[in-house]
Amino acid sequence: MKLENVPPGSGDSLVLYMDEIPEEGRDYAGEMLPEVLDIEAGELVALNGPLHYSLHASQVSGELLVQGSLGVSITMTCCRCSAPYSTEVEDPACFLDYQVDETTESVDLTEDIREAIILAFPSYPVCSSDCKGLCPQCGANKNTSECNCKPPDEVRWAALDGLGQKKERRS
Ligand SMILES: [Zn+2]
Ligand SMILES: [Zn+2]
Repeated sequence: MKLENVPPGSGDSLVLYMDEIPEEGRDYAGEMLPEVLDIEAGELVALNGPLHYSLHASQVSGELLVQGSLGVSITMTCCRCSAPYSTEVEDPACFLDYQVDETTESVDLTEDIREAIILAFPSYPVCSSDCKGLCPQCGANKNTSECNCKPPDEVRWAALDGLGQKKERRS
């Protein structure tokens, strides 16, 4: 589907028209709908709302420079406890540049913004820095339930203690 003449901020895409950008540059702020972003990345469960952008575009000697910030609220799966949790992802220093000339009418930023926000996703998402994770033996979520499993280290040491005692008994 080709979207034509969609003003910025309408949500379907972010297309900048060169003749709308004055010498001193122009600010663009708005939202992109989650459907448009169509993001599937790693531990991502869902986008909770639109992606917000606040960008400044300027033209400098054959280049269109776009810089600013991106942000979106997402739900991810915690790497430690496997529970879904919501978090804000931000790219405070998004920077895009495009080669342009007199024949360039417009530049579509949609795909690059999509990639920039995916790069800002945490590669090791955890629901909180002190998430206790799952018990490696019984699988219980240690944030919400207690189990009586011994940590693997203790089990191993108990076995070694047993060996030691056998030896002593033999000698
Ligand atoms: Zn967790
Ligand atoms: Zn357990």
